[in-house]
Amino acid sequence: MAGEVHVIGHPLVQHKLTLLRRKETSTSEFRALVAEIGMLLAYEVMRDLPTQPSVIETPLARMTAPVLDGKKIVLVAIMRAGMGILDGMLRILPSARVGHLGIYRDHTTLQAVEYYARVPKEMADRDAIVMDPMVATGNSAVAAVTRLKESGPRSIKFVCLVACPQGLRHFHTRHAEVPVYTAAVDSHLDERGYIVPGLGDAGDRLFGTK
Ligand code: URA
Repeated sequence: MAGEVHVIGHPLVQHKLTLLRRKETSTSEFRALVAEIGMLLAYEVMRDLPTQPSVIETPLARMTAPVLDGKKIVLVAIMRAGMGILDGMLRILPSARVGHLGIYRDHTTLQAVEYYARVPKEMADRDAIVMDPMVATGNSAVAAVTRLKESGPRSIKFVCLVACPQGLRHFHTRHAEVPVYTAAVDSHLDERGYIVPGLGDAGDRLFGTK
């Protein structure tokens, strides 16, 4: 059974993604763009957040107005490239709790290797949004969500910038109930496990390590 995939076709997201893909884009531009797209994706992924009525006073009158129950959200970045999206999401939801999952992919086997995991306590009350720029083989996304499920969050959503059909299939084979929000679904993976056309190595481009 295929899982839910939401491709965010908003022109602002698509424009910024095009700038991100260009090989001429500098590290500082890349970083700013990832954060900006992160903010825009936050808007989409948090569309169904519950609100509660709260009584406030404007300069003119007392009224009942909705507020988010922000404490219930936990943003989970897959290190290291997920940190860029996290920066943007935290600008939208500065009170969110944050979890970190350190996972790298072995360049020979393309398997996910975990080196760090830390999430807030009392996850049973929380809705988790996991983020990583690329869903390529899907191995890191699968490993991250498998690990996160051990802490028992109330719900999980996965956010990325670029995915490919193979990675999405693999991810939903293991986590069929987790919706994926992405700015693009590209054509395929190359023999080194890079998404084509993609945007290259997101971590290296974000941190200028190549
Ligand atoms: N990770 C990346 O950063 N880029 C890809 O194309 C695939 C995996």
